Amino acid sequence: MNALRGNLAWLRHVAGRGRIITVVKADAYGHGLRQIAALLMQNGTDMFGVANLDEARAIRGVGAGWPILMLGACLPDEVKTAVRDQVRPTLSSLAEAQWFSEEAQRQGTLVRAHLKVDTGMGRLGVAVNEALPFLRRIKQLPGLVVEGLCTHFAAAEDDARFTRRQQIAFEKIVAAAKAEGMDFEWIHASNSAGLLFQPLATCNAVRPGLLVYGVVPPVKRALRTKLAGQLQPALTWKCRVSLVKTLPSGASVSYGRTFRLKQRLRVGVLTAGYGDGYPRAASNRAQVLVGGQMCPLLGRVTMDQMIVDLSAAPEAQPGDEAVLLGRQGGEEITAVQLAGWCGTVPWEVLTNITHRVPRLYLGGHAA
Ligand SMILES: *Cc1c(COP(=O)(O)O)cnc(C)c1O
Repeated sequence: MNALRGNLAWLRHVAGRGRIITVVKADAYGHGLRQIAALLMQNGTDMFGVANLDEARAIRGVGAGWPILMLGACLPDEVKTAVRDQVRPTLSSLAEAQWFSEEAQRQGTLVRAHLKVDTGMGRLGVAVNEALPFLRRIKQLPGLVVEGLCTHFAAAEDDARFTRRQQIAFEKIVAAAKAEGMDFEWIHASNSAGLLFQPLATCNAVRPGLLVYGVVPPVKRALRTKLAGQLQPALTWKCRVSLVKTLPSGASVSYGRTFRLKQRLRVGVLTAGYGDGYPRAASNRAQVLVGGQMCPLLGRVTMDQMIVDLSAAPEAQPGDEAVLLGRQGGEEITAVQLAGWCGTVPWEVLTNITHRVPRLYLGGHAA
């Protein structure tokens, strides 16, 4: 929890006058939505970003009144609930705007919406050349206020030129809208990778997820900010050594017999597997920390257990802690590293940790 508090302070520093939409989708990137939402409420986020209405409801359950932005599109049958729960929709089409306008009138309320412009992500948003006509049209719709204008970068971590093109396209729309007397309380584009390179530009808010949790997205562009070195991973993922034994030379390890011993080896059986969200793709590739030492995984990760080579940790005993993510002794395994071993991204590593794994909150319970 202290790492999270520190990360939030750094993000606020980097965002300067900009406001922060903290992204807490997918159970706050696997960290546990309720606890993280409570901590954010105490440490001053400006808005929450969620992927669906269940997540919005969970936040409402922690504390009333916080602005919540739905980052995904609302399904037609979710509009009623979104309006009732005062969740701000991200709009990409006139049809969506009309549903919200009608529902707002039906419920006798006002919907605050964010219009997304598709500057190159090819996911949500209106086309660049349709943005201005859309804004003019939407202004006529009763019960609806466009309080936000936003876009999303497709390759902020490695493609400076494309990101710049997206940004220029977005800036032109913001400027044109302002020239017509429209103004927006919230103008935002940068996810974590975007924030590392260009905190605000002409925006007045940022939308970080991964950085909040202290994980710096792997980037191919040269970093100018010192932010990356200041953030601390909030999450440590541990299991235990349940059995230690020696296998003879020639023995094979785990399902499919993908690892064969060339010599006698002391191995440890660990109490976690893919049923806990540890990637099966880590089989024969990843390392874990036992006794403060890097120990390679042997053979396939199974549902509930996996086997490690304990040559580097000869003192290891049943009951010892094994660290899957985080620090032990002088060593550290990061989500970026584990993702790299498995051919995936740190976002997936974190959000895949299943609910079988108890979350313990150190450094002060927030909720
Ligand atoms: C998930 C998401 C973010 C946060 O992304 P990070 O890379 O984790 O910072 C920002 N904006 C939108 C629209 C998202 O869906």
